[in-house]
Amino acid sequence: MARKKGAINAFFTGGEVTLRPDFLYLLKFAKDAGYQRISLTTNGRLFYYEDFAKKVVRAGISDIIFTINGHTAQLHDYLSQAPGSFMQINKGILNLRNIGFNNIRTNTVIVKDNYKYLLKIGEFITQLRIKTAFLIYVSSPDDFKALTPMISQAARHICAFLNLTQTYKGNKYMVLNVPCLCYFEHYLSQISGTNEENNQLSENSKGFIDMNTDKQYRMIESKKKINRVKVPKCAECRINDRCSGIWEMYVRYYGDKEIRPVV
Ligand code: SF4
Repeated sequence: MARKKGAINAFFTGGEVTLRPDFLYLLKFAKDAGYQRISLTTNGRLFYYEDFAKKVVRAGISDIIFTINGHTAQLHDYLSQAPGSFMQINKGILNLRNIGFNNIRTNTVIVKDNYKYLLKIGEFITQLRIKTAFLIYVSSPDDFKALTPMISQAARHICAFLNLTQTYKGNKYMVLNVPCLCYFEHYLSQISGTNEENNQLSENSKGFIDMNTDKQYRMIESKKKINRVKVPKCAECRINDRCSGIWEMYVRYYGDKEIRPVV
């Protein structure tokens, strides 16, 4: 249906889609339907098996995004709650490389347990020769305080991760969904949120669904209104017009004392 409406990209995500018994069938179905780019977000564990890696590549996958929670087995396995998963993703990436598949990216969700290690996680990712990596700031309404680091504490570790692109030219390392832009004035090109509307369109919609619908724009407008707020201090900020504000939920839990206008 989406393909008939002109979509050219298919994205397999949510839960762990590789566990579906019909996963390979769905991949092939998407390929046969004519999708030009077929992407997958995965915990990567099944790629430990060479045969599975080969079948996925043969079915027509275009790029695979592995979730990396830590740079060591101890941290990654703890956060994924799956002993052995760090070893499995390392072997999985090797299996894909061995069959000539190199379109591999990574996502790392920033939480209280791993934010201090973001530079080390970034170095680990560069050692895996992965050129595109995304940090994603956790935004779970459940257990907000247990999971969400304060931005004033996490920011320098995020910037250290983003700085790796200075050493490894050509790598694209980004962060999505930061609660506010206050600490990132030198990294705006690597941060989603400077222009939420355009980011929504380019990252999530273009090529996937018809973005010229009222529904899409209503979704974007409501996201801007519901999820982010401005505080009086924002009026003094040099990038006020480029910033969508602070998570309303963040202000509710942590207040606005960390909000620091860019001057
Ligand atoms: S507009 Fe407000 S939230 Fe955005 S960067 Fe400036 S001070 Fe921070």
